[in-house]
Amino acid sequence: MSAAIIDGKIIAQKVKDEVKVGVADLQASHHYAPGLATVLVGDNTASATYVRSKHRACQALGIRSISHELPADISQPKLETIVKELNDDPDVDGILVQLPLPGHIDEEKILSTIDLVKDVDGFHPVNIGRLAMKGRNPLFIPCTPAGCMRLLAETGVDLNGAEAVVLGRSNIVGLPVALLLQKANATVTIVHSRTRNMESHLRRADVIVAAVGIAELIKGDMIKPGATIIDVGINRQDDPSAKRGYRLVGDVDFNSCLPIAGAITPVPGGVGRMTIAMLMENTLKAARMKF
Ligand code: NAP
Repeated sequence: MSAAIIDGKIIAQKVKDEVKVGVADLQASHHYAPGLATVLVGDNTASATYVRSKHRACQALGIRSISHELPADISQPKLETIVKELNDDPDVDGILVQLPLPGHIDEEKILSTIDLVKDVDGFHPVNIGRLAMKGRNPLFIPCTPAGCMRLLAETGVDLNGAEAVVLGRSNIVGLPVALLLQKANATVTIVHSRTRNMESHLRRADVIVAAVGIAELIKGDMIKPGATIIDVGINRQDDPSAKRGYRLVGDVDFNSCLPIAGAITPVPGGVGRMTIAMLMENTLKAARMKF
């Protein structure tokens, strides 16, 4: 039997459709459109592409977007001042500082400067702290982890008491996903680069979330039959037959896992589609909180 394919494209569209309705409601009730400010520092091509996609998504959903493109050599105080001005700007509901920032910038200090009620990326240390604490909830959940949880919810996976294994412990994906799974009452194991026997953990997992950045690390013979797999990884693999000379693959070997898993996300077309949709949802939430 073949696993069900979890279609991130359809689920992300569902989230965006919900946001579009929410934005229209806000317009009708308060004559107000949510506003997202993006801050892009330097000329990292991938970052610039992500930011452009975020602006396009805003436009499609009726969200105002305000762009700040800053030079790579901007000073720490100047960048902090810009974030503080956005905090004080009543037309801005959400602030997104595109990561990574240049090496000379203290990233944590910048993220801590963002007003909690405008932290639509969910990376403010207080938001992450609340995610980790029992009985507390963050105002905003980081977008890619929120997208993973929405994919699991839409798939109908019962997380209560489930064995969940998260591969990777980064601040932006692995750690928040693990905290969210724990909040959803899963029993969570975090696997990282120092873990001694990754396969022994994978084999008992009902749910696997892979966020490692190693192409096709997880093979079909490492997983439990029927497991649900969420593949966050985006890796380039050389492919002379592809137009660009490479193709994108996940951290999971899709072809060998497909006959064993119960449900699985493809790459591309899985988690990648969710991140921007969840950012739009967070921006709408920020605007609603204002009223
Ligand atoms: P990261 O910061 O590089 O973290 C990678 C994590 O994987 C680390 O915790 C590392 O462990 C762990 N790791 C490395 N080698 C391992 C191994 N052999 N076995 C088990 N764990 C291992 O990466 P990230 O930013 O979380 O991103 C992970 C992947 O997700 C990347 O492919 C990235 O492109 C993708 N991504 C996708 C989206 C999206 O779809 N929207 C968003 C963000 C990231 P240590 O902590 O011990 O070093």
